[in-house]
Amino acid sequence: MRLPLASSDVDAFSLPFGDRPIVVLGAEKNDRARSRFDAAHELGHLVIHGEQVWGLPAVERQAHQFAAAFLMPREDIIEQLPARADWPQLFALKRQWQVSLAALLMRARVLGRMNHGDYLTAIKAASARGWRRTEPVPLGPPEKPQLLGHVLAGLGERETLTVLPESVVDALASVAAT
Ligand SMILES: [Zn+2]
Repeated sequence: MRLPLASSDVDAFSLPFGDRPIVVLGAEKNDRARSRFDAAHELGHLVIHGEQVWGLPAVERQAHQFAAAFLMPREDIIEQLPARADWPQLFALKRQWQVSLAALLMRARVLGRMNHGDYLTAIKAASARGWRRTEPVPLGPPEKPQLLGHVLAGLGERETLTVLPESVVDALASVAAT
């Protein structure tokens, strides 16, 4: 689900409620690639870290590694990743995999397709074009949760959310309905 997080310095967070965890993404991050990565990062926390303390650098790194592997599985993507900043190829991969150019470059680096020098060259070239702020090849509006609205709208199913205070459920329901 999405909530306005403009005033905070977090992009996303998750609530590890027993059998129905919730991932909250910043509503103002209107970017599909970014949203998918943020959601996968939070999923990583839920899967790997459960209720452990989050926010430590090592823990954040693990969630990022999880997100990258989840969205760009090594076996499936490694042959497609370029060894240099081949932008037409990277644009096509962005469309295919629905992830940012930055994430693709990092994946190419981490999987050893791109050496560190070529990675830095690519990042600098992207910076010079202003792509670090606004990437080319927009993917359209972020995906929306399909199930949450139904769950929250169905009064009969509200018991499944009794772990949440009533006021929070109401707030979530009104956001999910928009
Ligand atoms: Zn995190």
